[in-house]
Amino acid sequence: MQSLNLDWTTIRNEATGILSRLIQFDTTNPPGHERPAAEYLLSLLEKEGIQGEILESAPGRANLLARRRGSGEAGPLLLLGHTDVVYADPTVWQRPPFSGLVEDGFIWGRGALDMKGLVVMELMTLILCHRLDLPLKRDLLLLAVADEEALGKFGAAWLVDHHWDKIAAEYVLNEGGEGVHIGGRTLYLVATGEKGYADFRLTATGRGGHSSRPEGPNPIVTLARGLSCLGDYHSPLTPTPTMDRFLQKLGQHLGNPTLTAEHVNELISQGILPPFLKYALRNVFSPTVINAGQKNNVIPPRAVANVNCRMLPGVGRADIESEIRAALAEEDIRLEITEFNPASESPTHTALFDVIEHTLECAEPGCLVLPFLMPAATDSRFFRARGVTAYGLTPIALNLDEYGTVHSSDERISVENLERGTRHLFEIVRQFCGANNA
Ligand SMILES: [Zn+2]
Repeated sequence: MQSLNLDWTTIRNEATGILSRLIQFDTTNPPGHERPAAEYLLSLLEKEGIQGEILESAPGRANLLARRRGSGEAGPLLLLGHTDVVYADPTVWQRPPFSGLVEDGFIWGRGALDMKGLVVMELMTLILCHRLDLPLKRDLLLLAVADEEALGKFGAAWLVDHHWDKIAAEYVLNEGGEGVHIGGRTLYLVATGEKGYADFRLTATGRGGHSSRPEGPNPIVTLARGLSCLGDYHSPLTPTPTMDRFLQKLGQHLGNPTLTAEHVNELISQGILPPFLKYALRNVFSPTVINAGQKNNVIPPRAVANVNCRMLPGVGRADIESEIRAALAEEDIRLEITEFNPASESPTHTALFDVIEHTLECAEPGCLVLPFLMPAATDSRFFRARGVTAYGLTPIALNLDEYGTVHSSDERISVENLERGTRHLFEIVRQFCGANNA
């Protein structure tokens, strides 16, 4: 394919202005109220002469869809994003979280990284394809959904159930992975899979009574004993196909072809890998809520806790229940599963992965592109459940400090990264979707 003459200074300024404005729509979920943000994106598309539509799942819960037609020679690629954000407490931010301020080379605000920034890169990619009138061999779709930060029931889950005919795709590119500057190199982590999510309600019971005469089991003590054992428990290291491929590729790069899961912690402590990778290799159990007692001199008859679990691909309800049961080492705690969403994994040997790898390695010689299992959940799971190959990649490169602002205070993206991500994403899409004569 030919190289294109694009004025990246102008594109960078344009993308910066759009992201700054997009951050100013307060789409904190709940309640979300994504409609004005979706209408803003639609207005930008219409100004370019690109048609789009808004699909509303409930009043104010708007999903934006646009499409550039290809020849149909190959299956569609859908660029997926969400416009809702999580809560931001303005008292702990250096800049107001919905200001979209552009200062010190950064665009500040909730959603800059998760994930209004990627939405803008996706929007710019579609707009550039349109402006250049690039012939495509597959349809290119842009879908900016509501409600990702809750359970997707007004966004991706609803769309998959109610509008599959409009959004069906062979491949999805979404959030989930990024580049990380670590150990003197840039590691691009592509989320080719993600862990599952389950909640368990743990209940311990007893007779209760006067605290001066503590007869019989105290439910608080029983529950605390079980949770303490669970806190000390480590699920076995179990690489699934995604992390097998990760280890294989990383091993080749480091000159250690027999790299195993056991080495990952070592590489993390040596500063070669980011700490979150240790959660990609085992099930994780986190107690998150605990409730018991109302009065200082009464032993309550019941103590209840929530344990949130993040499971590896292939782990079912019965597996996770028996693992948590064994880890609690406490017969007298009742277990109930209140939420279960299995993990999902896409193949790593695909034409799209090859294009991502090749594009990034050409643009940034020395970078390393690896598939990985994301420890949290994204909307990709709804598409994988329909057989779509879905990858998570915001093609920017962060240091660990910037990475830590996601869902925290002072979330921001550098203008340089916004340009880098737009360039990379546009090039990935051009290589993957462009007709051979493009
Ligand atoms: Zn997100």
